[in-house]
Amino acid sequence: MKEWEIVVGIETHARLLTQSKLFSGSSENFGAKPNAQANAVDIALPGVLPVLNKGAVECAIRFGLAVEGKIAPKSIFARKNYFYPDLPKGYQISQYELPVVVGGSVRIQAGQGENPSEKIIRLTRAHLEEDAGKSLHEDFHGKSGIDLNRAGTSLLEIVTEPDMRSSAEAAAYARALHALLCWIGICDGNMQEGSFRCDANVSVRPVGQSEFGTRREIKNLNSFRFMQQAIDYEAQWQIATLEEGGRVEQATVLFDPDTGETRAMRTKENAQDYRYFPDPDLLPLIINADWIERISAQMPELPNIRKQRFITEYGLSAYDAAALTAASEIAGYFEACVATAGKNTAKLCANWVMTDLAARLNREDIRIEKSSVMAAQLGGLVARIADGTISNNIAKKIFEALWDGEGNSADEIIEKRGLKQITDTDAIAALVDQVLQAHPAMLAEFRAGKEKAFNALVGQAMKAAKGKANPQQLSELLRKKLG
Ligand code: ADP
Ligand code: MG
Repeated sequence: MKEWEIVVGIETHARLLTQSKLFSGSSENFGAKPNAQANAVDIALPGVLPVLNKGAVECAIRFGLAVEGKIAPKSIFARKNYFYPDLPKGYQISQYELPVVVGGSVRIQAGQGENPSEKIIRLTRAHLEEDAGKSLHEDFHGKSGIDLNRAGTSLLEIVTEPDMRSSAEAAAYARALHALLCWIGICDGNMQEGSFRCDANVSVRPVGQSEFGTRREIKNLNSFRFMQQAIDYEAQWQIATLEEGGRVEQATVLFDPDTGETRAMRTKENAQDYRYFPDPDLLPLIINADWIERISAQMPELPNIRKQRFITEYGLSAYDAAALTAASEIAGYFEACVATAGKNTAKLCANWVMTDLAARLNREDIRIEKSSVMAAQLGGLVARIADGTISNNIAKKIFEALWDGEGNSADEIIEKRGLKQITDTDAIAALVDQVLQAHPAMLAEFRAGKEKAFNALVGQAMKAAKGKANPQQLSELLRKKLG
């Protein structure tokens, strides 16, 4: 049987974080009452003229810089003509022949585990365009409604080369792009509200064949998991079709999350169907070097660079550094934590951020910037573990207490609850003697060769110390006493 290779290219529509729409002054806020945010331009009254939003252009420049693409000194807005009830102008303003960003790339993690390999996904282009409105088919007593709030909102469409070779790579790309857009502050990334929507173009070919197969485009995937499921289903469908001697026709398909299947929606239209032509109402978009320079000076340190710095500056593994740079808020939290606890505790800080803190945030469904334990508070806690004041187990209790607002700092809670670790050798030795006397049966078991009894004795001593004895010292002393 033939071996097949999956080929995927992705188009993403990212809603830009602008105050107003791409060509009108209407607000971009999501969730307003239908048509409350649609002005004369958005509903396409005759005679209105579009005015380009400078903020949206700056978002595109930021993106171009972040992916190291070429920012076009001159780009052109074009009309993409089609009829649909949610498009009152009869055309969408987009960019066609000359987009604002050309080329560039996004790095993804292709492997898994401690040492994932990196893969470069090349971008073809990114262009500015306006969104269409929405047709509402529910709750209208058998009629349909049109909501033009979304009409004219600013989008950046980002198109990749067909560089991905599996559904996992496609999802990794979508995740990396999503994180990058949020990181540079040009998109809120809210997938439920449609701020980040992907179309996946999928084809298959026999391994070893250089030409691509015919692709089908899966529209509007709004979750990473659905994307992966949809591509897997689609690829299997194409392989089965070809193996049965059938043909794959170029088409647009929809994914149904309920059945996990893709279904053809329409045959694919070609660019010429849209009769693209330059919009005569808009001047060419000119971006000079000064403007790019100014935006460049305001760019944050990018995720890959920050990740590398975490490895060299703090001695973290690539795995930890990648996890901590998944979002700029996480990276910022980690660095603030280290700033309080001291650089030599970086690995310990990393562990706390990625395990205990992450678990609690997850459980409460809270984002790190809303964490109830501040970075400086966690740093203060880590510092007390590092200097031996408290054990890791006590630290977990203090963390929960900090979370619940029992005190302002780890030090305060340690003081209040008397949690300071017992490190005094004489005190620990006294505890050990006490426990050996109180539990002769355990002692006898140990003498009879049961190693488990040793742990039981440690447990008893720790209990007697109310958990505060230094665990290492305790177990060493007990070992010594027992010979
Ligand atoms: P359109 O604008 O009509 O959707 P494009 O040629 O711009 O078409 O391609 C759109 C996307 O499809 C790109 O991301 C591209 O990488 C991808 N693509 C093109 N050909 C293939 C193919 N044979 N298999 C998978 N993806 C493809
Ligand atoms: Mg397309």
